[in-house]
Amino acid sequence: MNNSIPTLPEAYTEPIKSYLPGSSERQLLENELNRQLDQVIDIPLIINGQKIRTPEQHKVVCPHDHAHLLATFCHAQKKEIDLAIDAALTAKPGWEAMPWQERASIFLKAADLISQKYTYVLNTATMLGQSKNAFQAEIDATCELVDFLRFNAIFMEQIYKHQPKSEKGVWNRTEYRALEGFVFALTPFNFTAIAGNLCAAPAIMGNTIVWKPSSNAVLSGYYLMKIFKEAGLPDGVINFIPGKGSRVGEIVLNHKDLAGIHFTGSTRVFQTLWKKVGANIETYASYPRIVGETGGKDFIFMHPSADTDQVVAAAIRGAFEYQGQKCSACSRMYVPRSRWDEVEHKIKAAADEIKPGSVMEFKNFMTAVIDEAAFDKSLGFIERAKASGSARILSGGTADKTKGFFIDPTLIVTDDPCYESMTQEIFAPILTLYVYEDETLDATLELVDKTSVYALTGAVFATDRQAIHKMTKKLAHCAGNFYINDKPTGAVVGHQPFGGARASGTNDKAGSFLNLLRWTSARTIKENFVPPGNFHYPFMTE
Ligand code: NAD
Repeated sequence: MNNSIPTLPEAYTEPIKSYLPGSSERQLLENELNRQLDQVIDIPLIINGQKIRTPEQHKVVCPHDHAHLLATFCHAQKKEIDLAIDAALTAKPGWEAMPWQERASIFLKAADLISQKYTYVLNTATMLGQSKNAFQAEIDATCELVDFLRFNAIFMEQIYKHQPKSEKGVWNRTEYRALEGFVFALTPFNFTAIAGNLCAAPAIMGNTIVWKPSSNAVLSGYYLMKIFKEAGLPDGVINFIPGKGSRVGEIVLNHKDLAGIHFTGSTRVFQTLWKKVGANIETYASYPRIVGETGGKDFIFMHPSADTDQVVAAAIRGAFEYQGQKCSACSRMYVPRSRWDEVEHKIKAAADEIKPGSVMEFKNFMTAVIDEAAFDKSLGFIERAKASGSARILSGGTADKTKGFFIDPTLIVTDDPCYESMTQEIFAPILTLYVYEDETLDATLELVDKTSVYALTGAVFATDRQAIHKMTKKLAHCAGNFYINDKPTGAVVGHQPFGGARASGTNDKAGSFLNLLRWTSARTIKENFVPPGNFHYPFMTE
């Protein structure tokens, strides 16, 4: 009988491997890169632990070398989507009844498997399938994912420990039940860690999952499923069904036992899902929890007192790492007139220095964008800027998709603060700069707040403390993650809980207990030790 009250291992942030030339970690990663490049694997659906294949086959290629085939994968059809829902519902009673310490143990084991045994496998799949350079893959597929898994166990424990008061004669308790039904995890291409967490966060709270990964991140998703299995996750708890988003969505969102949606992706898709849930509301057994982290139009605001080198370094890293394909990527920047000459010169020199290339060459700061559609969409913004009377290209503006989907880091300068690339999410290595007059600081802060529908991340740079205080206050609602003298990307689990409001999402803060709260439905239990024996109150005495 397990009657102990165990203490969870302390969560710590996974150290980042450096991959310096000549290091053993670099050698091991190169070996794994070559191994995965030398094979073409066949990725099945995984439903109730069973590998299932369908005739509709698609390809996984390297975005930086699109002729190179890495894998083929199947698309789920109606039959398999129904099977995945059934599997999740069947696995549910056993999973939610499992003591929470055992659930924690499975995900903590998965974290250590990723940290030690499979770090090169998962980093490689992310590098080759999603075109991340070694460092970007490391901070995502190993570090952030491991942090999510370790910290989620702590967050779960914090929630379970939260109990109501009890007075004499009564014992009140709160029981944190899993949601009734299954959770639909719908994940984006750009972070292996997010894909893992969108499944693992509801699962650790006792829910079972139907997971539709992005078609552009199936390779890393498949390896992740294998790792979860090796960690001891029971069959049916997470069911992996790559497929066409609208087809899977249509069936899943029509199911009466849909208990929640854990989504990260574009605002457009999220709004479509929400509308469908609204239209189907009478179909469901309960109100589905809808959690979505979506698009951004993230900014850097430079105050006249800021240090130029720091601003430029933050802008280049914030805008161009992972080719600008982070929801938090800096894509609009405000520079005071008094500092413009200096900034223009330095940021152009820095951007001109960057040449995107293959993930196999470790010197590359940037590689390719995810696919042809992303490439063509980005090029549209570049071509329109070239033709526009209110914008000009300061650096880049060139692209080549012959071998891979390469877009040179592009700086657009505009004199229109509402120019399309100042307001719309592009999700590519394109940063638009707007020069403001120093004396219009207050009005420009107002502009920053109102320019876009999004409110995900933003950064201010200044050395003047009064200015920092003022900007922090004025920009209170236009970023869920606000940075002072730092780039707006790179949130760390447990340190900077992540999420934005307005059109950027429900702000349920991945990487904190707030997210896990959405995956539980509390039951309050009151036990009366000495219940009254009749209905008369003392005041009724004549
Ligand atoms: P996406 O919206 O195109 O796809 C997300 C998922 O939804 C994929 O699995 C896709 O197949 C699925 N999907 C697409 N259409 C669907 C439909 N009609 N019904 C059901 N499912 C459907 O997003 P993406 O291109 O994979 O990712 C990039 C987007 O994600 C950007 O907008 C970015 O800002 C956002 N993002 C946000 C965060 C955040 O934390 N706020 C983090 C990462 C990415």
